[in-house]
Amino acid sequence: MAGVSLRKISKVFGTQTAVAPMDLEIADGEFLVLVGPSGCGKTTTLRMIAGLETPTAGEIRIGDRDVTHLEPKHRDIAMVFQNYALYPHMTVYANMAYSLRLRGMDKAEVEQRIHKASAILGIEALLDRLPRQLSGGQQQRVALGRAIVRDPQVFLMDEPLSNLDAKLRVQTRAELIKLHKRLNTTVVYVTHDQVEAMTMGTRIVVMKDGFVQQVGEPGVIYREPANMFVAAFIGSPPMQFLRGRTTREAGGVLFQGNGFALPLPAFGEQTPIRDGLVLGVRPENLELTDETVAIPTIVDVVENIGSEALIHGKTPDDELIVVRMATPETVPAAGERIQVKPVRGNLHLFDADSGAALALAKIKTNG
Ligand code: ATP
Repeated sequence: MAGVSLRKISKVFGTQTAVAPMDLEIADGEFLVLVGPSGCGKTTTLRMIAGLETPTAGEIRIGDRDVTHLEPKHRDIAMVFQNYALYPHMTVYANMAYSLRLRGMDKAEVEQRIHKASAILGIEALLDRLPRQLSGGQQQRVALGRAIVRDPQVFLMDEPLSNLDAKLRVQTRAELIKLHKRLNTTVVYVTHDQVEAMTMGTRIVVMKDGFVQQVGEPGVIYREPANMFVAAFIGSPPMQFLRGRTTREAGGVLFQGNGFALPLPAFGEQTPIRDGLVLGVRPENLELTDETVAIPTIVDVVENIGSEALIHGKTPDDELIVVRMATPETVPAAGERIQVKPVRGNLHLFDADSGAALALAKIKTNG
């Protein structure tokens, strides 16, 4: 087992910077998730760690070895891909044995490793089948098994759950979390799915356009996003944004949007007082209120799934706002005028131009 160090690694294809110089220390045993929208550079980063792509500059270390210029097979890594990449003409057993036999491992050791990995993954009964005789979920388990038997220092996984249907994806996600706990091997995992990132990662790296936006534990990324991109990318529905400016009044900071003024007593002395700001609040921290000092909203659409309801509305400035009601016994109707107010959790102030987080305040709740 080993950690991975990325030291100023970058990748440029022609004129396209796929990955801007990036520093990252991945600890031994960590489950690190690279997440971001399509084209952000996450796969290129993973392929550079794997040795499938040569960095334009920088150094990659696995454990205490500089592997920057080593062939993939000498890096002691195992990859799991979205498309499983199983050999179609080989049985499950032969697929799992292949790389071990190439290494010249003796038959008894190969058998013992396959036995152990297939027991962990619950695929013992499938060892004599061909890949085409397996479901997608079973094929993905075989692909994982093939990685596990190699007992690598690092697992590299590129969207391994994308080809599974929604239910199987949730189930396999939980299995991967358990598997990591059990094996305790370093995992670098690429996904565009923020739920996978939040649920699986011990740390998350959020990327955009080749640049790292933020690195942190899932809870920290969620509660303290570094900028509006991260705030909107992590969380579903995303953080809600209201444009406006702050002023300082007798009672503290006041946020003035278009058509409303909201006192923000949670914000203290350090709060920027100026124009060009965006107030950010998560849908679950908003509530409908009878108070008039709130955000006037016209209900657009109500999605009530029983356990919760999402109220989609519009502010006087035509900005969209979503309120998540946790106990939706009574919900407003489309077209209704309501008042909305942040009542718990964190409030964020961002710079409207750069999107950078400027201030954060926690709303104090009674009890
Ligand atoms: P996706 O989720 O769509 O796979 P990604 O975040 O993994 O996206 P990359 O595949 O790393 O993104 O691509 C990053 C950028 O580099 C993209 O703009 C892509 O078009 C470009 N790119 C990737 N591989 C090559 C290549 N071989 N030649 C030229 N450009 C490339």
